[in-house]
Amino acid sequence: MITHAKEAEKFNKDEARVDWHDDTLWFVRQKRDRMAHNIPEWEQLREKASQIKNHTLSNLDQYLVQFEKQALANGVHVHWAANAAEHNQIVFQIIQKHGFQKIVKSKSMLTEECHLNEFLIGQGIEVIDTDLGERIVQLRHEPPSHIVLPAIHLKKEDVGETFHQHLGTEKGAKDPQYLTEAARQHLREKFIAADLALTGVNFAVAETGGIVVCTNEGNADMGAHLANVHIACMGIEKIIPRQADLSVFLRLLARSATGQPITTYSSHFLRPAPGKEMHIVLVDNGRTEQLARADFRNSLKCIRCAACFNTCPVYRRSGGHSYHTAVAGPIGSILAPNIDMRKYADLPFASTLCGSCSNVCPVKIDIHDQLWKWRQILAQEGHTGTAKATGMKLMSAVLSNPDIYRFVGSTGRWFLRHVPSLASNSLNPWFKQREMPEPPKESFRDWYLKNRKKPKGE
Ligand code: SF4
Repeated sequence: MITHAKEAEKFNKDEARVDWHDDTLWFVRQKRDRMAHNIPEWEQLREKASQIKNHTLSNLDQYLVQFEKQALANGVHVHWAANAAEHNQIVFQIIQKHGFQKIVKSKSMLTEECHLNEFLIGQGIEVIDTDLGERIVQLRHEPPSHIVLPAIHLKKEDVGETFHQHLGTEKGAKDPQYLTEAARQHLREKFIAADLALTGVNFAVAETGGIVVCTNEGNADMGAHLANVHIACMGIEKIIPRQADLSVFLRLLARSATGQPITTYSSHFLRPAPGKEMHIVLVDNGRTEQLARADFRNSLKCIRCAACFNTCPVYRRSGGHSYHTAVAGPIGSILAPNIDMRKYADLPFASTLCGSCSNVCPVKIDIHDQLWKWRQILAQEGHTGTAKATGMKLMSAVLSNPDIYRFVGSTGRWFLRHVPSLASNSLNPWFKQREMPEPPKESFRDWYLKNRKKPKGE
């Protein structure tokens, strides 16, 4: 079974890469901090965004229906998908109806979640991811490792090698400008040849039926403007009530994501251009179930900025692939168990619960509290594994009885001093990357009883 710990162990084998990954994401986190500190009303903005999202989630049914009505009135085709399979079928049927063979995509974590690429490629459709990072990982047959910076786990040398193999660039080339230009030329051809463009959605406005797509590369616009058919796929939680609410989220999103004041392209799509076709697919795929979980519903406020990834000490030092789910990091560790509790039971434990994720979240999701709550549910539901469940029961017995605690403490110290290999061996994962500390000669309690100042008269 794939677990975060096992995958992280693979990532950790290359220490230099781990350090570099850690430093790079911390650099992004620091840019985010500078941007946030430049705005005196930052905390009010976060509070406002949180309230808008809370209100929207409490009235989601109404806003979805309003959005559909407005979008239909704008001449957009609206589709509803209960799950990933339905979503993929809807997209495929639109492609099939037109007899298309080639599509271009801009970044959409929803389609990653639904495994759309694999599905369409299996049906004989050419699917090209046009976000630079996404295209790099697509060429390498890897999933994105980060929702905003999909190829952040790779160095420019890795990209050079990938482009050499797939795009015919010079062997050993690692100049970012040269590599980016090669990608640009390659993608231009794909844009021009594509029959259909698929984009994600950052925000869908119930009041107008319009959608907003944010990219730094303009690839969503290029695809949607060149192709005759545009499909926009969105999770149902992307709704916001009013056009006026957009400014709150657009100010927060780019600053939290990459430390930019605004995303380079915040493109508004309202209706199809004359003679063209536009579709919006609204996808549930477990979201209404999450909405019904009182402790976890507000995870649906997420605007996918990835600030919680960049600040997380575990994510930074274990890499996105170790989370084995489309959305990695702290928020992914809350969302994934909702979809499959058994498969993703390891993820809420991939956290120090330091709370840094909750502190940076622009929509004020109580991420670390939810991770902690998932741990309790997973333990109650029997998803934590026999070794951990038995260990916890033993610890509970020891920690709840002072006599047993003292006996185990003194016996443990004796064994650690005289037979350290009993604890520090290859069967104990805790010591794989750690050295055994010197065991103390006595417990704090024993030391304290010997050294405390006795009250007068005692
Ligand atoms: S949980 Fe918050 S910080 Fe993390 S990606 Fe979502 S909005 Fe950003």
